[in-house]
Amino acid sequence: MRAKLIIGNWKMNGSRAANAELLNGIVAGLDGAEAACAVCVPAPYLQQCQDALSGTAVAWGAQDVSMHECGPYTGEVCAAMLAEFACRYVIVGHSERRAYHRETSELVAKKALAVLAEGMTPIVCVGETLAQRDAGETMQVVGEMLGAVLEKLDPAALEKLVVAYEPVWAIGTGKNATPETAQEVHAHLRAQIRVRNAQAAQVVPILYGGSMKPDNAGALLAQPDIDGGLIGGAALKAGDFLGIIKAA
Ligand code: PEP
Repeated sequence: MRAKLIIGNWKMNGSRAANAELLNGIVAGLDGAEAACAVCVPAPYLQQCQDALSGTAVAWGAQDVSMHECGPYTGEVCAAMLAEFACRYVIVGHSERRAYHRETSELVAKKALAVLAEGMTPIVCVGETLAQRDAGETMQVVGEMLGAVLEKLDPAALEKLVVAYEPVWAIGTGKNATPETAQEVHAHLRAQIRVRNAQAAQVVPILYGGSMKPDNAGALLAQPDIDGGLIGGAALKAGDFLGIIKAA
């Protein structure tokens, strides 16, 4: 059985003071028996996370990365820099980056490769819009998004991925996918991985993201192919984040 994994995506939120309170609250609320967990924070706060979380059960990571190696790319942050802060995870292809920064699946795949090359774990986000769901295109859309990454990777490297299914219509809206709806997509994504590498399909965590909260987490996480959560809003309050971790 795959262990559950709960990852917070702070998005562009935080301040040194608020982060300290949140991180201390999370660490203090864990008693060692819970699911694995991590927070993905804005890059300027990685040092603070490394200082506060080293030696605890909470891992940390970043929310984006450049597809390039270090060099003349003003404003970008390369994977080698993130690795220097001991990041375990890097989110790639979040729907907000696809929508507001026009990131293509091709670019997301290159970012995933850059993350793997530095020994970190990419969290590859895929998800359909409401219009795509209503048009019956969900499986095709998420399949193409994941496929772009799968085809760039050596099949043996697939075991190092985390995938997150995040329906765009559920992100930050308070409308989560039903457990059955999410399970259907997760099973589809796992089958897609299985075609390339059967062992990877067994071990790759497929997280659900989209308005996951302490009160709906249990039912979502009880589905056989939902291996954890990528949590936005509820990751900003220690009590809510801990509630989801404990539900897992
Ligand atoms: C997210 O942005 O990854 C997310 C899942 O957000 P929320 O939990 O707020 O819907």
